[in-house]
Amino acid sequence: IGGAARAQTGPQKLPGVKAVIAVASGKGGVGKSTVSANLAVALAAEGKKVGMLDADVYGPSQPRMLGITGRPASPDGKTILPLRNHGVTLMSIGLMTKEDEAVVWRGPMLMGALQQMLAQVQWGQLDVLIVDLPPGTGDVQMTLAQKTEVAGAIVVSTPQDIALLDARKALDMFGKMNVKVMGMIENMSAYICPNCGHEAHIFGHGGARADAERLGLPFLGEIPLDLEIRSAGDGGAPIVASKPESPQAQAFRDIARRL
Ligand code: ADP
Repeated sequence: IGGAARAQTGPQKLPGVKAVIAVASGKGGVGKSTVSANLAVALAAEGKKVGMLDADVYGPSQPRMLGITGRPASPDGKTILPLRNHGVTLMSIGLMTKEDEAVVWRGPMLMGALQQMLAQVQWGQLDVLIVDLPPGTGDVQMTLAQKTEVAGAIVVSTPQDIALLDARKALDMFGKMNVKVMGMIENMSAYICPNCGHEAHIFGHGGARADAERLGLPFLGEIPLDLEIRSAGDGGAPIVASKPESPQAQAFRDIARRL
């Protein structure tokens, strides 16, 4: 096979998209989708044109978190028009299925769906496309890195050892796939009691920062474990959109400015 043919099978740049940023975690439930949604809205608030590809195919949370319902249209029967809210253009498997409908697919179907969402969606001109990956180190992560030029990956972890253990695997995977790690975020970092202001470290504290330092990676910031962050996401308006002046929103905006 000649060089040109080989080059075509390598990672391709997504037309019109300046940078693809993957948001990953080792473990599920550490807040990867919450962080993705808030970072997307924060980047839009910085004046960037932002898209969100919800690649968490088994548990697509972005339609709920970004408050987007309805089915994307396909006027020409070939390409798909994504939907938009809070300044973010979204495509998600969750928009194609009912909210409580399970996606019961094997790897090849997942990879096909991911490739369709990358290539057949009319993303338009974007500064950043955030890809909310499923947890772990599987088919979706590999397909993304093999097919698409990824500018960088962000790894989200709680400070808990068991989450950090899996976060290190995600970091190792990006190393093996030659994807640059932009840094780590510690989510659910501290709980501040709304009544008395006492700070409790429910999952520990500082583990992600220590890991990042040990591995020579940037530490992008800490997000507290906070009732309003949870309820804002559940309500379809991430805290960066619903309470932009709050310290919680500012924590996300500070991270977005570091990207
Ligand atoms: P993942 O994408 O890693 O599975 P999610 O973003 O879906 O994680 O978060 C898991 C749960 O934790 C959700 O119910 C979400 O609302 C909640 N959550 C995430 N981050 C925070 C936070 N910083 N404070 C409070 N709740 C959070």
